[in-house]
Amino acid sequence: MKVHADRDRCVGSALCVLTEPAVFDQDDGGLVVVLSDEESGRVRDAIDLCPSQALRLAAE
Ligand code: SF4
Repeated sequence: MKVHADRDRCVGSALCVLTEPAVFDQDDGGLVVVLSDEESGRVRDAIDLCPSQALRLAAE
């Protein structure tokens, strides 16, 4: 599975970074950056916590 982040939807809340910093980071503007495709329970938690539904897991 691949971690997808829709930066047009991201509102820079940082919840994903706080939840799984090995996979998510923020750029200088505060928007999400995906660092790796590591799939963990914390990645799924981050997807659930994102207030703008900007994150998802997909086959490609
Ligand atoms: S939790 Fe969602 S809105 Fe917040 S920084 Fe991550 S992707 Fe953006």
